[in-house]
Amino acid sequence: MQHLTHQQIIDSFRGATRSEIKRVTLPTDFADTDFDALDFYGWRDRKIPRRGYICVPHQGDLVTLLLTQADAVPKRRAMCAWCRDVNLTSVAVMFSTRRAGQAGRRGDTIGVLACEDFSCPRNARRLPPAFHKATDLEALRAEAVAGLRQRVEAFVSNALSAEDV
Ligand SMILES: [Zn+2]
Repeated sequence: MQHLTHQQIIDSFRGATRSEIKRVTLPTDFADTDFDALDFYGWRDRKIPRRGYICVPHQGDLVTLLLTQADAVPKRRAMCAWCRDVNLTSVAVMFSTRRAGQAGRRGDTIGVLACEDFSCPRNARRLPPAFHKATDLEALRAEAVAGLRQRVEAFVSNALSAEDV
């Protein structure tokens, strides 16, 4: 994805309140981010427990959503709905986000089971540990990355679908 600035992220929030946006803290290593290796930029707020954010390229624009991690922890290790990493490299937890527009202001949210640390782009690019010699690894990886992008996009579209026009 394109290289992001702090201001671009702040300007692209949808469904979050002004006071929530004011309290957003970026990771200390933000300046070192390799955006070329990312399909979306996700991070945890180090000052606010259970708070995370994803900044996603969406229909030629950028959309940033605020995510809240649910109190309940899944009993068994679960697979992330975005990267579908079968190795369960990262812990997947339940997040919810307020929908944009009127619905969100009424308290309407949508949920997703996703990697706690938003490492999905890295997981999608990891090659399988065992494969047949004839396997086209680049094709496998391209497919995993395309699937990840599609599922994150769908989540963002859903979050924005009730937005006032
Ligand atoms: Zn994931």
